Amino acid sequence: MKPLVALVGRPNVGKSTLFNRITRQKTAIVDSTPGVTRDRHISPADWIGRSFLLMDTGGYSHDNDTISQAMLEQTMLAIGEADMIIFMTDVRSGLTYLDLDMAKLLRREFPDKPIFFAVNKVETPQLAIEGEAFRKTGFTNPYFISAREGSGVADMLDDIVKAF
Ligand code: GDP
Ligand code: MG
Repeated sequence: MKPLVALVGRPNVGKSTLFNRITRQKTAIVDSTPGVTRDRHISPADWIGRSFLLMDTGGYSHDNDTISQAMLEQTMLAIGEADMIIFMTDVRSGLTYLDLDMAKLLRREFPDKPIFFAVNKVETPQLAIEGEAFRKTGFTNPYFISAREGSGVADMLDDIVKAF
């Protein structure tokens, strides 16, 4: 079985953007129909010769402002099946209560699962400085990434596949 890596975080932090970036190549081979990638929540991915499955979560709701209870339960079930977690936040919106709640919940519910903590949308040195505040989540080794531009993603994937 390929390892399953789940992408979690509150709406709008950039999960689907990262999902599409990491799985693009593969899904393009599997299905070239435009729009298909957007609607697929689990997709095969490769990094330096290692194969895994990447799962996007939270794409099930149209409500972008709150995490509904049903959505949270769905996400928690999905994470339960995952071997590893990428917990994503957004430096441009700052650290929010939802991020802190999610951090606490992840540690409490999944103490034994490897969690990779990503601070997304870091595209300037100033934003990297602001990203330091995200260590308050208790995740003290953040990956500063830009899902849109790709920076930092390679380093994070290197560490993820090493942990398989
Ligand atoms: P999701 O709700 O967590 O899946 O977030 P999306 O991937 O749908 O992205 C939400 C918004 O953030 C969109 O407008 C994206 O274009 C934007 N976004 C995603 N990643 C980045 C990034 O790395 N940098 C910036 N500046 N914007 C991003
Ligand atoms: Mg999404």
